[in-house]
Amino acid sequence: MSLNGKTAIITGSNSGIGLGIARELARAGADVVLNSFTDRDEDHALARDIAAEFGVTARYIKADMSKGDDCRALITQAGTCDILVNNAGIQHVCPIDEFPTEKWDAIIAINLTSAFHTTAIALPMMRKAGWGRIVNIASAHGLTASPYKSAYVAAKHGIVGLSKTTALETAGQGITCNAICPGYVLTPLVEAQIPDTMKKYDMGRDEVIKKVMLERQPSREFATVEQLGGTAVFLCSDAAAQITGTTISVDGGWTAL
Ligand code: NAD
Repeated sequence: MSLNGKTAIITGSNSGIGLGIARELARAGADVVLNSFTDRDEDHALARDIAAEFGVTARYIKADMSKGDDCRALITQAGTCDILVNNAGIQHVCPIDEFPTEKWDAIIAINLTSAFHTTAIALPMMRKAGWGRIVNIASAHGLTASPYKSAYVAAKHGIVGLSKTTALETAGQGITCNAICPGYVLTPLVEAQIPDTMKKYDMGRDEVIKKVMLERQPSREFATVEQLGGTAVFLCSDAAAQITGTTISVDGGWTAL
C-alpha cells in the first residue's frame, strides 16, 4: 500500500490517536500535516521526527479546531488535501441538568463542527484531483450512549451523520468518507487516568484496566493507536474505494453487545 504523493491533514494530532494515525499514514508514504491549538517547539519536533523516520514531508500547523476560521485556514495553509482525518476531540463527563453550557458548546465545536468546516474547504481540492479520502474519528459513542456524556455522544452521533451525508454528496467522484468508531484506546489521556482509578478502587493496574476501564469492551483489551492508524490506511487504499458512508468499529466487541 503506497500513499506516496498524497498529502494527509490530521486534526488534533500532537498526541494520542491523531499522532498514531499520522505516523501510520507517513509509514505508508503520505506527506503529513500535524495540527493542534498550541505552537510549541515539541509540536514542530513531532513533525520533524516523522519526516526523519519515514522519509516524507511533515509539517505542523497551529489551528484551533473550536474556531471555524482556524479550521478553514488549516486546510488553506496546507495548500493541498488528499486525505483529511478529522480527529480533534475533547470530553466532559457530567449529568445533563448540571452540564456547563460552555463545555457543551466546546465539545460540539471541536468534535463535530470543525469537521464541517475542514470538509467544506477540502472537498473542492479533492474534486479537482478526482481523488480524496475523508476519515472521521467518531467513537463507540457514535453508535451507542453512556450516561453523563451527553455532548460527546451527541457530537459523535453527529459526525457519523455528517460522514454519511458527505459520502452521498461525493459518491462516484473518487472520494470516500467514513467514520472509525474506536472503543477504549490506550492514549496518554487514558494512561493518565489509571493511577487515580487504581487508588479509588484499591486495585492493581491490570484489575483496574479489565474490571473498571474495559468493563464494556468484551475483549478486555485496549485498541491501540497503531491499530487505528492501520484502519485509516486501509480506508485510504484502493481496496476501500467502494467503502463509503459507513462506520468501522475498532472496539473489541463493545457495540456487538
Ligand atoms: P488526546 O487528548 O490524546 O488527543 C486529542 C487531540 O485533539 C490532541 O492532539 C489535542 O491537542 C487535540 N485538540 C484538542 N482540542 C483542540 C482544539 N481546540 N484544536 C485543535 N486540536 C485540539 O485524545 P485521543 O484519545 O487521542 O482522542 C482523539 C480522538 O479520538 C477524539 O476525537 C476522541 O473523541 C476519539 N476517541 C478516543 C477514544 C479513546 O479511548 N482514547 C475512544 C473513542 C474515540
